Amino acid sequence: MSASISGAAVVAGVVGSPVRHSLSPLIHNAWIAAAGLDAAYVPFAPAEARFADFVNGLRGGAVRGLNVTLPFKEQALALADRASDRAWDAGAANLLVFEHDGQVFADNTDGLGLLAAFAEQAPRFDPTAAPVVILGAGGAARGAAAAFKAAGAPEVRIVNRTPARAEAICEALGERAEAFPLERAAAAFAGAGAVINATSAGLSGDGGLDVPLAATPETAVVMDMVYKPLRTGFLQAAAALGRPSVDGLAMLIGQAVPSFEAFFGAAPPAGVDVRALALKTLGDVERI
Ligand code: NDP
Repeated sequence: MSASISGAAVVAGVVGSPVRHSLSPLIHNAWIAAAGLDAAYVPFAPAEARFADFVNGLRGGAVRGLNVTLPFKEQALALADRASDRAWDAGAANLLVFEHDGQVFADNTDGLGLLAAFAEQAPRFDPTAAPVVILGAGGAARGAAAAFKAAGAPEVRIVNRTPARAEAICEALGERAEAFPLERAAAAFAGAGAVINATSAGLSGDGGLDVPLAATPETAVVMDMVYKPLRTGFLQAAAALGRPSVDGLAMLIGQAVPSFEAFFGAAPPAGVDVRALALKTLGDVERI
């Protein structure tokens, strides 16, 4: 939030249920303050059954745009008048922009955030060099699969507890995609360039995923979308094997950059260490 807000301030926010623990207000308001914008970024937690009323009520133009988090991402796409190819490919939206004519535009910046996280934390990773394995078959997995396919991955392998959901994603992806049940994760890991946990297992320190990461090549980059805790059991297992890793916080910050641009019309200002701010809030001091 800027130090002083005028009557002309631009308002954006994040909507979810729950939204209390979202790091997005911290990140966006740090950028707003550093850029000296007349703007604010606020959390919204409408009743789940009233999400459509909430979004449609904003068609009047009171709010410039919203980031969307669980459990509203699919519904957000369905409510929009127009959507980017990225959002259609993911089957979900994490960004809504309210146009001046009352229309709602949906986008999905999670895939951009994922690729930005790899570029930052595993700069030698080449998405075109080897198959990419994605664990999970929800909206996050679907978006990741589309992003890596667009980035030129020679093959995308989807591994999921419920095989039919993995098969549905592969069908939508078309060629260069193969589905695996969780029990056959080792087969999917053979020759992989990257393995990405896009399941919600590991969230808040639950049991996590039990997959044979040792079956990955030594050079495979291991990434976990979960960032609470930052050092998930999955990333700890990767570190024990000496695999390079990418964490979910880098992805969260990566998806926030194009969202900020969509809301406020400019890139986030340089020189703000939003990762350090987020880590302080998460209670972690450094990445693996
Ligand atoms: P969904 O609820 O749509 O999908 C969850 C997936 O996890 C399903 O494939 C489900 O399998 C699988 N799963 C859940 N629990 C287990 C388990 N114990 N063992 C094996 N598989 C399991 O979630 P999303 O796709 O929206 O999000 C997935 C994760 O990614 C979440 O933790 C979310 O917070 C994170 N995320 C992080 C982002 C970031 O910026 N870092 C951005 C977007 C998401 P099944 O189909 O069998 O039920």
